Amino acid sequence: MSAKQVLYVMWQWTWGFAQTLAGAVIFLIFWRCPHFRYQGAVVTVWPIKSGSMSVGGFLFLHPGWQPGNQKLLAHEYGHTVQSLILGPLYLFVIGIPSFLWALPPATRWRARHKIPYSALYTERWADRNGARFAKKPKLRRTSDGKIRREPA
Ligand SMILES: [Zn+2]
Repeated sequence: MSAKQVLYVMWQWTWGFAQTLAGAVIFLIFWRCPHFRYQGAVVTVWPIKSGSMSVGGFLFLHPGWQPGNQKLLAHEYGHTVQSLILGPLYLFVIGIPSFLWALPPATRWRARHKIPYSALYTERWADRNGARFAKKPKLRRTSDGKIRREPA
């Protein structure tokens, strides 16, 4: 890990403690799923088909996610940057609003009114953070289902 990544982990576990602890618990529940490290964050490809999310320094991607899908990885990483910035306010400013925004009633309402998912500030901001901070990793899925970084 680079010095920047060590700082990222320390910052998530102090200023972003509540959501990072929650993310660690979810990580342990999905312990057996494929994982990889990404710029200090811990990514899990979980079996929940309906979606992906980010909790503190932990990212959870839906099972259809492929190592080439940088857009989703960057978006979810963008939420972890929000955790770094907001710390204890993260749950109220990002966590609850974006959770409600992803629920079926909100999804139906967006479809009816042709409103994009990114219309909510939490999502637009995550996209912007992702574009700014998420580097494109060279990842591949190995034959045993694990995700690994390509050797440099
Ligand atoms: Zn999002």
